[in-house]
Amino acid sequence: MSAFEGKIIKVHPGDNVAIVVEAGGLVEGQALGDGLVAAGRIPQGHKLALRNIDIDAPIVRYGEVIGNAVVAIGRGEHVDETRVRLPQAPALDDLPLATRPAPDVEPLEGFTFEGYRNPDGSVGTKNVLGITTSVQCVAGTVDYVVERIKRELLPRYPNVDDVVGLNHTYGCGVAINAPAAIVPIRTLKNIALNPNFGNQVMVIGLGCEKLQPSTLVDDRPVRIYENTEAADPDANVLSLQDDSFHGFGEMVEGIMAMAERHLERLNRRRRETCPASDLVVGMQCGGSDAFSGVTANPAVGFATDLIVRAGGSVMFSEVTEVRDAIHLLTPRAIDEQVGRALIEQMAWYDDYLSQGQADRSANPSPGNKKGGLSNVVEKALGSIIKSGSSPIVDVIGPGERLRRKGLTFAATPASDFICGTLQLAAGMNLQVFTTGRGTPYGLSMVPVLKVSSNSTLGRRWHDLIDLDAGRIATGDASIEAVGWELFRLILDVASGRRQAAADRLGIHNDLALFNPAPVT
Ligand code: CA
Repeated sequence: MSAFEGKIIKVHPGDNVAIVVEAGGLVEGQALGDGLVAAGRIPQGHKLALRNIDIDAPIVRYGEVIGNAVVAIGRGEHVDETRVRLPQAPALDDLPLATRPAPDVEPLEGFTFEGYRNPDGSVGTKNVLGITTSVQCVAGTVDYVVERIKRELLPRYPNVDDVVGLNHTYGCGVAINAPAAIVPIRTLKNIALNPNFGNQVMVIGLGCEKLQPSTLVDDRPVRIYENTEAADPDANVLSLQDDSFHGFGEMVEGIMAMAERHLERLNRRRRETCPASDLVVGMQCGGSDAFSGVTANPAVGFATDLIVRAGGSVMFSEVTEVRDAIHLLTPRAIDEQVGRALIEQMAWYDDYLSQGQADRSANPSPGNKKGGLSNVVEKALGSIIKSGSSPIVDVIGPGERLRRKGLTFAATPASDFICGTLQLAAGMNLQVFTTGRGTPYGLSMVPVLKVSSNSTLGRRWHDLIDLDAGRIATGDASIEAVGWELFRLILDVASGRRQAAADRLGIHNDLALFNPAPVT
């Protein structure tokens, strides 16, 4: 990476464009060294041509072609999105599989965090009572009861951090036997298994819904709560239509009684010292800008490699932001089978998009473009850097659980909320979220650490951003230094020693299920 007097930044020696670092952008006539002069006003984060680029010639960033010039572009001119033609996505039928040897790295030993160890070996970073639902009809009731539990019961159980309603819009009025319905159903099942819930999730159902409540506790014996003298003390499922309830008040009391038993058990959980290999970190980006791929995402990639070296698990996701850089990922698959699994996920999504007559040009968003990202190729190249340089050991489909330690590609849409929901189902105990434009995203189930890609945002959102990686662009910190800072911050937050900004402020987004099956 080279900087021109701190005003623009070039990532790869082969690049013919550079990114404007200067906070206010460049003004016409501004000298940048080496005889390079800005040919007009160019906003921060946007691209400037380092050489004359002929019409149709490739525009190169990260050493990769991000598109071709629509017009001849002179040295020093602004290369905005209207001047870059989107290239074809890499074909899926002839990609190199598992051709790149894994980097030779030392295992990282001696790093620990204080977590809640579960009987199945997984480790929680929070201690949360989860109340899930088999159908959206009960969501209002769950919200009502969660408020009362927080007010009336939670203060008596000081070791429990929170009570969370896992509401969603699924469960009925859907084609539940359609092949693709497996995605939302396994997502709901697997969220209940997230390590932060300590295997104590309760299920609230209605009774007549298509998705029966018992399917959401299939790892545990189903114990139905009835409103009788001999109510089952170990009940984990309650249906509002159960004959034993007379009126809303009795339903609420029933849920409260059931919650109390689960809170008692959760309250006995204690943090214990766990190796960093018990970390399960989901990496995501949202509201990206041209800096994301230069600062925050490379620092996240460095932290990814540290976690993998420590024996932990990391997942990266967001199929539409990976698709255009897939030729850089299939060589990193640990074997051909994993390489083929990557390609299958890409093909499935290509097909899914074409059914909706959408294509990959729907990404980037207007805000991404305003931030300087010309197209999805440029966005993808900057996005996959989050995965560091570790080998990809496994690929899971949307809503599936992680199977292996190391770096996994967990296929999800790029939507922040859907990706977060699917990474929760995969079993993450912490999420790292990079942002350039800024989004106040957070989840109540696991801590979300937000990393800003530019210091302008880092300063403006001083209380919403956990770590500013913008210092990398200004030369005030290295990728390695910020990567280490992030790794240590992850260990502190996973231990409960420090709080993520979103948790401190109490800002939490709703779950958003991915349902590729028909709604009826
Ligand atoms: Ca996203």
